[in-house]
Amino acid sequence: MKLNIENLHPGMLAILGIPSDENSSFLRGPALAPEKIRQALHSPSSNLGTENGMDLGEDTRFRDLGDLVFEPGNPEVEQIEPQVRAILQQGVRMISLGGDHAITFPLVQAHHQVYPTLNILHLDAHPDLYDEFEGSRTSHACPFARIMEQGLAKRLVQVGIRLLNDHLRQQAVRFGVEIVEMQAWQPDLRLEFSEPVYLSLDLDVLDPAFAPGISHHEPGGLSTREVIRLLQNLRAQVIGADIVEYNPLRDLNGVTAMAAAKLLKEIAALMFRS
Ligand code: MN
Ligand code: MN
Repeated sequence: MKLNIENLHPGMLAILGIPSDENSSFLRGPALAPEKIRQALHSPSSNLGTENGMDLGEDTRFRDLGDLVFEPGNPEVEQIEPQVRAILQQGVRMISLGGDHAITFPLVQAHHQVYPTLNILHLDAHPDLYDEFEGSRTSHACPFARIMEQGLAKRLVQVGIRLLNDHLRQQAVRFGVEIVEMQAWQPDLRLEFSEPVYLSLDLDVLDPAFAPGISHHEPGGLSTREVIRLLQNLRAQVIGADIVEYNPLRDLNGVTAMAAAKLLKEIAALMFRS
């Protein structure tokens, strides 16, 4: 969808596609995600209703800005922050559709300028705290190391993690990351934040049975319902979010696109509520 950032108003909640996967380590594909998630969101098999009774299709505050356009030749992650900051500075809140997880670093850079006391809730199978990965510091395995070393988040809470090694544990200690590992996870988990929260949702936090359309299948994850319950039980003012790592090339019958669209609607409901 073509980028359209005209006539923005304070109070709007906008979707922005970020079709970038040049920092993926294993497989490309997430650059194709925004359009596929949009198609699922507008699929005639469902509607834009949320579980708390909102109709996003009727709500004029809910708007799709289309996809960011990248200039070839320059690193994509460097082109995100200025464009997103310009949108946020108009009082618009955003749910970004990735793209791989590397986009979260510039997205948080932009949000930090508007919300200096930012906290982050990060749902993922992986902590993405590598200092560098396969020679890259902008890899999708590294964004939360970049965020924390720049002091962009006062608090980082990670949920769903099930692939930690010694280096990643050391990084978590170094940055004071609060990790709810999958092996310690309880279904009645209630999280509370007293400062504005940026929500970063890597779809591989879901078990691959619920979301096969991702690059890194890591069994033993959350169900779609468990993620929805976590969101519905969240006590926080959510001021921005991203949904990343959807890989349409790995999906089966679009089931992961529908899961992404469902979670997008529930995140929108959560952001309108707070
Ligand atoms: Mn991730
Ligand atoms: Mn992941």
